[in-house]
Amino acid sequence: MVAESRIKGWCPGAWRPMATGDGLLVRVRPRLGQFTRDQMLALCEAAETFGSGLIELTSRANLQLRGVTEASWPRLMSFLVEHDLVESDPQVERRPQLLLAPDWRAGDATHETACLLLARLADMAELPDKMGIAIDAGEAPVLGEASADFRIERSASGALQPRASGGLLVRADGQALGTPVDSPASAVELLLRLAHWFVASGGRQSGRMHRHQISLPAWAPASIPPAKAGPRLALGDHARGRVVGLPFGRVSAPVLRAAVDSASVTVVRVTPWRRLLIEGDEIGGVAFSGLLNDEGDPRLDMQACPGAPHCEQASVETLGLAERLSGRVEGSVHVSGCAKGCACRQPTDLCLTGRDGRFDLILSDRADGTPVATGLNESDVLAYLENEDASRL
Ligand code: SF4
Repeated sequence: MVAESRIKGWCPGAWRPMATGDGLLVRVRPRLGQFTRDQMLALCEAAETFGSGLIELTSRANLQLRGVTEASWPRLMSFLVEHDLVESDPQVERRPQLLLAPDWRAGDATHETACLLLARLADMAELPDKMGIAIDAGEAPVLGEASADFRIERSASGALQPRASGGLLVRADGQALGTPVDSPASAVELLLRLAHWFVASGGRQSGRMHRHQISLPAWAPASIPPAKAGPRLALGDHARGRVVGLPFGRVSAPVLRAAVDSASVTVVRVTPWRRLLIEGDEIGGVAFSGLLNDEGDPRLDMQACPGAPHCEQASVETLGLAERLSGRVEGSVHVSGCAKGCACRQPTDLCLTGRDGRFDLILSDRADGTPVATGLNESDVLAYLENEDASRL
C-alpha cells in the first residue's frame, strides 16, 4: 500500500493523505459528525503510534493526525479500518463530506436527512474533492460560516415548526435564498438532482458552487430565505455533557484520552468551531485539563502551526510563544514555524514567522510577508509588543 501521489488543491483524506512539513496529514471523517468513546480512544492510540501525537480539528469538523510517515501510513490505515474509523473502500471515502449541525438529536430532521443522504451517496454525481454538504435542519441554522456547497436548512417559515419534518429548503452556496421542500426525502432528491446539474453544467471546472457563475435551473428556484441563524455551541455545561474547546484547534493524544477515557463518556461530537461536545452522564461541571472551558479564551481563535519539534521545517517552537501571546494582543494572531504558513493562509494583524531559530515579526500580512522586525527571540517579541502597545494591534 502506497499513499497516492498528492496534487496541490486536493482535499486530503485518510486514503489520500497530504504531504506537509511535518509528514503526512491524515484526515478522519466522523460519521454523522460523531465518534464513539472507543473510536476516540483508538484515534488517540493511532496518533501516538503512527504520528506525532497531535490531533487537529478542522473547520469542516474532521479530526486529522499529523506527523505520519510514508512507512507508517499503511499500518495506520489498517488500524483505522479495523477500528471503523475509515471506510475500507477508498472510493467510498471520496464521496462528498456531510457536515451536520452538531446538536442534532436522533430522529430529528437533521438526523433523518443525513441518514437518507448517506444511503443515497452512491447516486451522487462525482463532485470536485473540496465540495461539501451541510445538513443544518434544526430550529435555527448554525453552520452558516462553515464551508459547504449545498445546504439543507430550516426555512424561515419552517422555524415555527422545528420538530416537523417539513419547512426545509435546499440552498446552493452563494445564494441568499433556497428552494423549499416538504420533507427530508424531498430535500435529498433535490440535492442529488442539483449535484448532477452542477456537473452537467460545467461546475467541475469552477471547483466550488459559489464560483459556478451560472443561473440555477428553473426546477430549483431560489425563492425563500433560511431561518435566522442560531448560536454555536457555547463552552461549558450542555444538556448532554460538556462542550470543551481545543487551544489553537489542536490537542495532544494524552490530553484527549484523559478527557474521554471515562466509563460515563459515550460519544464525542465534532464541531467546525474548535469545540467538542463530550456526551455522557455526570460529566457536566468537569473541567477537562488541557482543554478550554472559558468562552472568552483567546486560544479559541489564535492560529499556530505545530512548529518544532513536530515539524522538521520549523527552526522554532510555536506553541509556547502562542501561549505567551494569548490575551496580550487584541487583533488576530498567527505563529508560524516557517514562511509556509500552514496554519493560516490569510493575513493576520500580527504574524510571527520562524526563521533560523528566531522570529520575524510581520504586521497585517501572511507568514511570508515582509517583516517589520527580524531575529527576535520570545522575550524580544514580548518586549517589542509592549513597546508598541500591542493592545492596539
Ligand atoms: S508552517 Fe509550520 S507546520 Fe507548516 S511547514 Fe512550516 S513549520 Fe511546518
